[in-house]
Amino acid sequence: MALTVLDHPLAHDLMARLRQRDTDPAQFRTLTRRLGWLLMIEATRDLATEAVTVDTPLEPIEGRHLTERLVAIPVLRAGLGLLDAVTDLFPDTVVGYLGMERDEITLQPRDYYAKLPPMDGRRALVLDPMLATGGSGSAAVTHVKTKAAPTSISFVCVVAAPEGIEKMAADHPDVPIVAGALDRQLNDVGFILPGLGDFGDRLHGTP
Ligand code: URA
Repeated sequence: MALTVLDHPLAHDLMARLRQRDTDPAQFRTLTRRLGWLLMIEATRDLATEAVTVDTPLEPIEGRHLTERLVAIPVLRAGLGLLDAVTDLFPDTVVGYLGMERDEITLQPRDYYAKLPPMDGRRALVLDPMLATGGSGSAAVTHVKTKAAPTSISFVCVVAAPEGIEKMAADHPDVPIVAGALDRQLNDVGFILPGLGDFGDRLHGTP
């Protein structure tokens, strides 16, 4: 399984600001969107293109146009924070939604909503900011694999824990992961350490 962790001064700066406990939801959304641009650039590095002839005002030159489109699948509700970054960069992206929530007692994923568009000829980007146990991330990818036929699937997160990476590698070795940071471990209630707390609460301003 391929894992890419962003290693760019801007990504480090954005991650540090996101982690800061007194970053308010308005700042948190803006920072997530900006980090999202870097994540999406990485996740789409090998998108298919075709040769085209471009007429500049001076002479023709061979350029390239994208031929592979995207379907973005934010995992509700935290994944919504990464959606604008995809549509900013790739405006003809179609969007599907998956509602997965973690049972706080068993830590097992529960799927409560799914609305996926046709994906033929498109790469699916599953957007799930905190790859903690990997339970909901893996279940989301399984759902996409069983219900649709994208050209490929990539998993995009802001923070990954080693436990989540291990689970994804075991369940979906064909799915590359792009992360903003790889953290140390989970605590006993499944939060990532050092992490940034509850991503959904921080994004949506809920207590
Ligand atoms: N989900 C979060 O929002 N934060 C964590 O640390 C783990 C899962």
